[in-house]
Amino acid sequence: MRRAGALRCTDRGPRGAVKAALDEGRSRQLAAALGELTRQVLWARHAPRVLAAAPRTTLHTRVGAGHATNHRVDRAERAIITFGWRMVAAKAAGPDESARWLSGREILARGYFGGRLGLLDVLAHVVCHEFAHLVQTAEGARRRHSVHNAAFYLVLDTLHRDGSADAVRGALAPICARLGVRTDGPTTARADVVAQVLGDDPRHAAAGSGSRGAGRRGAGRGAAAERGLRRGQARGARSGRPAVRRCSTRFEPGDRVAFQVRGRRITGCVQRINRRSITVLPDVPDRPGQWWRVGPTLLLRLEARPRTTDTGLPGVLAMDRRDKKRIEVLQKKRSKLRIEISTVKRFPDDPAELPRLEQELAAIEAELEKLKLP
Ligand SMILES: [Zn+2]
Repeated sequence: MRRAGALRCTDRGPRGAVKAALDEGRSRQLAAALGELTRQVLWARHAPRVLAAAPRTTLHTRVGAGHATNHRVDRAERAIITFGWRMVAAKAAGPDESARWLSGREILARGYFGGRLGLLDVLAHVVCHEFAHLVQTAEGARRRHSVHNAAFYLVLDTLHRDGSADAVRGALAPICARLGVRTDGPTTARADVVAQVLGDDPRHAAAGSGSRGAGRRGAGRGAAAERGLRRGQARGARSGRPAVRRCSTRFEPGDRVAFQVRGRRITGCVQRINRRSITVLPDVPDRPGQWWRVGPTLLLRLEARPRTTDTGLPGVLAMDRRDKKRIEVLQKKRSKLRIEISTVKRFPDDPAELPRLEQELAAIEAELEKLKLP
C-alpha cells in the first residue's frame, strides 16, 4: 500500500495509515462518481474557459488505488485527475478526519460551504480543488515553485462562488443515497482539531509545503516540552497579515541547520522563518512530510546560505560587479532549489523532477565554485 504522504499535491491525509471508514467497494464507486461529476458538472460548465487557454486539453478521470488524489497532464496534453478510493474512505470517517486533510483545511480557512465538513462538502470540494488545478494549468499559472498559488485560489474561489461547487455537491447527494452512504453525519470538527490544523499559517498550509498534523504532533507533544520547540498556537485562523515580525535574522531559508530532540541530533534545511520559530525540513523525516518548528536559540547553523553582505571574503571584494551580481542571483536560486528539493523529496510529483532539480543544483554549485575562485 502506498502511503499518503509519499504522494503529492492535494489531499495529503494525516499519519501513514488512515482509517478507512467506508468499504473499498463503495469507496471506489464514489471515487468513480467524483470523476463523473468532474466531467458532467465542472467540465460541462467550464470547458470553454479551459479550451480557450489550452485548445487541445482533454479530460480523463480515474480511480486511484491509494489515497493519492491529484491532477496531472501527460505528454499528449491529457489532463488526468485521479481520485484515490482510500481518500474517499478516510473522509467518510467524519469531520475530525476530514479537517486534517489539505482540502478540509481549505474549507475551514477559506469558508467554503460555510466551513462545513460534512461528507458531501469535503468530497464536492475535492472535485473542485482538482478541477481548479486543471484550469490553473491550462492557463499557465501552475509553476514548479508555486502550485497552490494565488491564481489557483482565484479559480477555486470562482468555482465556489458561481454555483459550480454547489452543483457538484447537489449531484453527489443522490449518488451517496443510492450507494447507501450516509451523508447526514456531523459537519463540524472538534474545536481542538480545528485549532490544531489551522494553527499553521493558512498560506503555508495551502502551499502544501509543510505537513499537517503528523509532523506537527511529532514535533509538538513531548518534544515540545523541550524548551523553545514549537510554541505556536492557533493563530493562523486570523485574517489579514500585518507586517510579520520574524523571530530571527540569524537564519535564512536555505540554511543548513541541526538541533537536538531528546538526545537525537536532527539535521535539515531551514524552510521558513516564522514569528517565534523556524520551520525546518529534516533530511531524514520520521514520516513523509514531517517538518519541525524549532526555537531559533536551539538551532545550530551548519552551513549558511552564503550572505552576499559578507565582506569577510577577500574574493568577493576583489570581484568585479558583474560577477558579484551573478553570484547573488545564483545564491538565491540555490537557496530556492534546496527548499524545493526538500519539498519534492517529501511529496514527489513526478519521478523525473528530483533528478532534474538536483542536476540544476549541481550546475549552480559548480558555477558558484568557479566564480569564487580568485
Ligand atoms: Zn492541490
